Amino acid sequence: MLTMLAMQQITILEALRQAGRVIDEIDARMLLQYVLSVSHSYLLAHHEQDLAPGQALSFRTLTMRRAHGEPVAYLTGKREFYSLDFAVTPAVLIPRHETELLVDLSLARIPLDLPCKVLDLGTGSGAIALTIAKHRPSADIIAVDFSADALKVAGKNAEQLNVSNVRIMEADWFKGLAGEQFNLIVSNPPYVAYGDPHLDQGDLRFEPGIALAAGDEGLDCIQSIIASAPAHLAAGGALLLEHGYDQAETCRQLLGEAGFAGVFSHPDLAGVMRVSGG
Ligand code: GLN
Repeated sequence: MLTMLAMQQITILEALRQAGRVIDEIDARMLLQYVLSVSHSYLLAHHEQDLAPGQALSFRTLTMRRAHGEPVAYLTGKREFYSLDFAVTPAVLIPRHETELLVDLSLARIPLDLPCKVLDLGTGSGAIALTIAKHRPSADIIAVDFSADALKVAGKNAEQLNVSNVRIMEADWFKGLAGEQFNLIVSNPPYVAYGDPHLDQGDLRFEPGIALAAGDEGLDCIQSIIASAPAHLAAGGALLLEHGYDQAETCRQLLGEAGFAGVFSHPDLAGVMRVSGG
């Protein structure tokens, strides 16, 4: 009996080694940090510590779920974005590092101490709106989403991040915002084409289709936002949109047709044109 119990013991290092054979090592580390509620440096300093049997079982279960494709962020319920911790559930898109570019470009347009009205369309977890709010406390921000479940996540994040300058609203893009005008409108809308094989592969399979896909060419939401935005922009206001790697040219064309001036696209760190605006 004693030998059996002893055999079940597993150290932090051995647990990470075993998991590393079936999942990415960084994923394994993040899952173990989550199970043990400890930091990365704690794991490094306690390699020889034994896991309690319940912890070992939880870690093994999560490792298997990850091996079957579930994103780490859904397994741990959180994701870091712009150095802030966001709660996530399968009701929202997992915030992407690429989207930090959209935040950078937004912050560059929002004065630090002056009032500025900002709209985030399709806020999901609230990653964009709440990050802007943290960095620009004097901005007055509205964040809308079509999904009530997503808005619950955004609301929880607003509370956890102690943000009070974001009004979170259920709305279908601009519907419900009649007469409202903004200095900046931002969005990371769904932009993947229906039928894109990536939707059935990897982590994307677990994310909400409604947050990812938009029409046969992936342009339905982008088109609709660009068409309606001019009526909701104050004089001198700007629209910034994230889009797919091959949609920059179409976006600039749509922006030009809608009357935007100074239309531009901006590359992400990988050199892919990721955000367009005007
Ligand atoms: N605005 C959120 C984000 O960038 C959600 C975007 C979406 O659901 N398409 O993470």
